[in-house]
Amino acid sequence: MRLQNKVAIITGAGRGIGATTALKFAKEGAKIVVADINIEDIRKRVDEIKDLGTEAIGIKVDVTNRLEVDQMIKKTMEAFGTIDILINNAGITQDARLVKMTEEQFDKVVDVNLKGTFNCAQAVSPIMTTQGKGAIINASSVVGIYGNFGQTNYAATKFGVIGMTKTWCKELSPKGIRVNAVAPGFILTPMTEKMPQKVLDMMAEKAPMKRLGTPEDIANAYVFLASDEASFISGAVLEVTGGIIL
Ligand code: NAP
Repeated sequence: MRLQNKVAIITGAGRGIGATTALKFAKEGAKIVVADINIEDIRKRVDEIKDLGTEAIGIKVDVTNRLEVDQMIKKTMEAFGTIDILINNAGITQDARLVKMTEEQFDKVVDVNLKGTFNCAQAVSPIMTTQGKGAIINASSVVGIYGNFGQTNYAATKFGVIGMTKTWCKELSPKGIRVNAVAPGFILTPMTEKMPQKVLDMMAEKAPMKRLGTPEDIANAYVFLASDEASFISGAVLEVTGGIIL
C-alpha cells in the first residue's frame, strides 16, 4: 500500500472527486479526515471508509472560515497526532460571461477556491514544518491553464492556485514539504452535471482520448503525488485531461 499509515486531510471530500480520493487513499492505507461543508455527505463517506477497515474522522468545515479551518487542524492533531497530506480539493463554480457576472458570484468563487486553499495550506504548514515532512496538493483545473468561456471567476482562482503552488514550493520545499497541483480536465461529478450535455459532449470530443474523465482518474493522480514515489516532485502541475487543449 502506497500511503500506509499516512494521515490525509481531504477537503470537499463529501462527494465528487474528493469523495473518490478519500476512498482511494483509504484503500492505500491512509488514515482519512473527511472535511466538507455538508454534514450528511461527511457521515456517509466516513461510514464507507470505516467499512474498509480504515480509520477515518469527519470534520464539518467551511474552508473560507479561518476559525473553522484552525479547528479542523486541531481536531486532526488530537485524533491522529500528525498530518502528512493535505488535499486542497474543495471548490465551486458560479459561471457567467464577463458582462453578466455579478460581484457576488466573483467574490464567492474567489473566497472558496483561492482563499479556502490559502487558509488550509497556511494552517497546516507550521505542523508539517515542525515534522520536517508533508505533501500539499492543490486542485487547479485545465481552466487554470487555458481559461474557459463563461468562467472568469473560476479561471482566475485556478490560475491563482497554480501561482500559490509554485510560490509555496519555493517557500516550503526546503523544509521538507512538497507542494504540487493537479489540473483535471472535464470530469464527471456533481459539479459538471450542472453543465449542458452538449457542452460535455463537445469537451469529450475535443479530448484526443475522446472521453470525459472519471473521479478515479484524478484520485489516482493524487495518490501518486502524495506517495513517496513522488518524493522528488514539487512545484509541478500535473494535467489529467485526456490531452484536451481548449
Ligand atoms: P463537487 O462535486 O462540487 O464537490 C465539491 C465538494 O466541495 C462538495 O462536497 C462541496 O460541498 C464541497 N465544498 C464546497 N464549498 C465548500 C467549502 N466552502 N468548504 C468545504 N467544502 C466545500 O466538485 P468536483 O467536481 O468533485 O471538484 C473537486 C475539485 O476539483 C474542485 O476544486 C474543482 O474546481 C476541481 N476540478 C473539477 C473538475 C471537474 O470537471 N469536475 C475539473 C477541474 C477541476 P457541497 O456538496 O455542500 O457543495
